[in-house]
Amino acid sequence: VLRLEAVRKTYGRGTVVLRDVDLEVAPHTVTALIGASGSGKSTLLRCANLLEEIDDGAIFLDGEEITDPRADADAVRRRIGVVFQAYNLFPHMTVLDNITLAPRRVHGVARDEAEARAHELLERLGLGGRADAYPDRLSGGQQQRVAIVRALACRPRLLLLDEITAALDPELVGEVLNVVRGLKEEGMTMVLATHEMGFARDVADQVCFLDAGVIRERGTPAELFGAPREARTRQFLERVV
Ligand code: ATP
Ligand code: MG
Repeated sequence: VLRLEAVRKTYGRGTVVLRDVDLEVAPHTVTALIGASGSGKSTLLRCANLLEEIDDGAIFLDGEEITDPRADADAVRRRIGVVFQAYNLFPHMTVLDNITLAPRRVHGVARDEAEARAHELLERLGLGGRADAYPDRLSGGQQQRVAIVRALACRPRLLLLDEITAALDPELVGEVLNVVRGLKEEGMTMVLATHEMGFARDVADQVCFLDAGVIRERGTPAELFGAPREARTRQFLERVV
């Protein structure tokens, strides 16, 4: 679904944030990006969604080079759902309006259809009955689930999740992780950056350890967490687990 080839990203004058990053994300799989703060996880996700321009290399979505200057960035973004740490819901809009805004405005879906789909998704993510609430009436976990519904409402090909539990109280983390597990069972393709090693181990098919902008090591959770080959990976895991 997604492929990065020798992607290089620098900020300002020469701060290299991603160097020669190769990554292949197969359909219906979950890829977890782990690594210390500042290692480049968010930057990688932002590049994949064309929120950042890369300096070198190429990114492909379903075989099409999206980093080609002639590619239609808006069309690409419509095929990718993104959820960030801060849920970024519009505070002055109800849950339902938050969810149906993009399908209606960007994708031209009729109101009835957009709302029907929103209700169905809310129900599935355990938020039935919350459609008319305003975001500030919801818990952090509920708001984050609404943000996930909002991303799903556009029927994305790929979902990018950046530290979606980082801003949540520990007791609310579980409900959001359960949603991700459910999406995985339904076959959604996801790439997520996380500091929750237990979650990465549990849900990911592929785990990539980023270290100063380099994918230092990658493998199945069993390989990476159970038998890391690189000293840097071992050091990182010893510190965080
Ligand atoms: P965290 O775990 O804290 O979220 P991360 O792995 O997501 O970290 P990034 O946010 O991708 O790390 O940042 C990678 C590097 O790029 C950091 O050194 C950061 O300071 C730098 N950086 C990120 N965004 C910018 C920007 N807009 N301008 C300049 N430097 C940036
Ligand atoms: Mg980050």
